Amino acid sequence: MYDPLVHSYPPSQIPAADSYWRAMAPQEQPDDGTLASETRADVAIIGGGYTGLSAALELTRHQGLRAVVLEARSAAWGCSGRNGSFARISGGRMPHAALIAQFGEATARAFFDELRAGLDTVRRLIEEGGIDCDRQPDGVYKVATFAPHAEKLQAEVELYNRVFGYPARFIQARELDGIHGGPEAFGALHLPDGFAMNPLKLAHGLQRMARAAGATVHSDSPVIGWTTQNGLHTLRTPGGSVTAPKVIVATNGYTSNSLHPRLSSRVLPVHSQIIVTTPMSDAQVRASIPTDGCLFDTRELLFYYRRLPDNRVLFGGRSAISGADSTDPKHRAYLYNAMVRKFPALAGIGIDHWWGGWVAVTRNSLPFFYQVPGLEGAFWGGGYAGSGVSFSMHAGTRLAQMAAGLPVKNGAAFLTQEPARYPFGRFLRIGQTLAYRWLHHKDARLAATS
Ligand SMILES: Cc1cc2nc3c(=O)[nH]c(=O)nc-3n(C[C@H](O)[C@H](O)[C@H](O)COP(=O)(O)OP(=O)(O)OC[C@H]3O[C@@H](n4cnc5c(N)ncnc54)[C@H](O)[C@@H]3O)c2cc1C
Repeated sequence: MYDPLVHSYPPSQIPAADSYWRAMAPQEQPDDGTLASETRADVAIIGGGYTGLSAALELTRHQGLRAVVLEARSAAWGCSGRNGSFARISGGRMPHAALIAQFGEATARAFFDELRAGLDTVRRLIEEGGIDCDRQPDGVYKVATFAPHAEKLQAEVELYNRVFGYPARFIQARELDGIHGGPEAFGALHLPDGFAMNPLKLAHGLQRMARAAGATVHSDSPVIGWTTQNGLHTLRTPGGSVTAPKVIVATNGYTSNSLHPRLSSRVLPVHSQIIVTTPMSDAQVRASIPTDGCLFDTRELLFYYRRLPDNRVLFGGRSAISGADSTDPKHRAYLYNAMVRKFPALAGIGIDHWWGGWVAVTRNSLPFFYQVPGLEGAFWGGGYAGSGVSFSMHAGTRLAQMAAGLPVKNGAAFLTQEPARYPFGRFLRIGQTLAYRWLHHKDARLAATS
C-alpha cells in the first residue's frame, strides 16, 4: 500500500480507494490527460486535491493567470476523494484552549476567523458552481464519550461563547434523544455551522469549475524532478515538464520527503481509516444515529461518524501506522468493534466499504500556507490533520493570492510561517506507535472508571 515515507509519489499500480464515495460518484471527471510536452505556465501546481484545485480556480478566475495542475494519479485521488466528509470550522488539531494558552486570545480569535472563512469558502464554491454533492443540513456534535468529559465540553462551550463570540451550546445527555443513542453519550457540544456531503462529488465540482475558468489539470503526471534556474522552476514528469516562475505545492499528507529538500520532514503523514456499513433498519437508526449531522467523540484517539443518506453508518478513526500495515484486517475490526461498543444495536451489521488515506500533521499541530523561504516563488499549504475539507480550500485560495502577489494578511502569524522539521527520520514511526499505545491506555483507564 502507498506510504509517503516510502514512495516518492503515488505510483500507478496502487488502486484507488474502495470508498463509498467512489461507488456513489463512479464517473471519472474529464481532465487534460497525461502531460506529454514541455510547457509553460504562470503557476504550476503539484497535487490535484482541494488545495490544488481551489488554487487553480482562484488563479484563473480571479487573478487572470495561467495555472497548470500536475496530479500523480487523478484529481482527488488523495484525501480529497476519500475523507470523512465533514466540512467544519476547523483546521489542524490544536484544541482551542491550548491555542489560547500558547498564543493569547487575540491570535486565537484571528485564527478562528480564518477557520470560519474556510467554511464560508466551501459554502460559496458549492453555491457558485451549483455543485451537486449531497450536502446535508448544518449541525456538528462533539459527544462526551466518558462522564468526566461532559464538564470539559461545558468549559469548551464557555470558551466558544466568550472568546470567539460563537453560539456553541451544551446539550445534556437526556436531550440527546433523536441525535445520538448508545451508552457512550454523556452530553454533547453543539456547533450550528458545519455539514456533511459527498467529498468526491465536491472535488469533482471544483475540478469542473477550475477547468471551466481556464485551468489545465493533468492526471497520471507525477512530479519526479524539480529544478530552479534564473527565477524559473521546472517540474519534470515522466512525459514532459512545466516551467513557471511560481509553484504551489498542494500534496499535503501525500508529500514525499524527496519532492524538494526544503520541504522534507515538515509534515508527518498519518493514516486514517473509514468503514461504511450496509444500510441500517429503522430501529437501528433510532438506536444509533438518528441525526444527519457530523459527529465525533472525545477519546484521545477519536472516532468520527455519521449516518449517510441511505442509512448506512460511516465510522472512522486512526490505528494503522505504516502503509504496509494499513491493509491488516485488524484495523477494520478495530473500527467495527468501536462502532458496536458505541452503538450496540449495530452488532452483526455488514461492512460494504473499508478504505484509508494520509492526513498531514505538523509538529505544532497547526496548518500553514506560506511562501517557502530560500525557494523564491514557491508556496506551500497543508498540515490540516483530519480537518482539511474546508481549510484546504481556504488555504488553496490564499496560496493563489500570494502567488499572484496580493498581500495576504491575517492575525495568526503562525499560519504563514515555515513549519518545523520532525527529527529522528525513520524512527518517527516508532514514536508514533508508542504515542498511540499511551493514548489507548488513557482512554481504557477512563472507560474502566466511567
Ligand atoms: C480517512 C480520512 C478522513 C478525513 N476526514 C475529514 C473530515 O471529515 N473533515 C475534514 O475536514 N478533513 C478530513 N480529512 C482530511 C481532508 O480530507 C484533507 O485535509 C484534505 O482533503 C486535503 O486536501 P489536499 O488537496 O491538501 O490534499 P489531497 O487531497 O491529499 O491531495 C494531494 C494530492 O497530491 C498528489 N501528489 C502527491 N505527490 C505528488 C507528486 N509528486 N506529483 C503530483 N501529484 C502528487 C496526490 O496524488 C494527491 O492527489 C480526512 C482525511 C482522511 C484520509
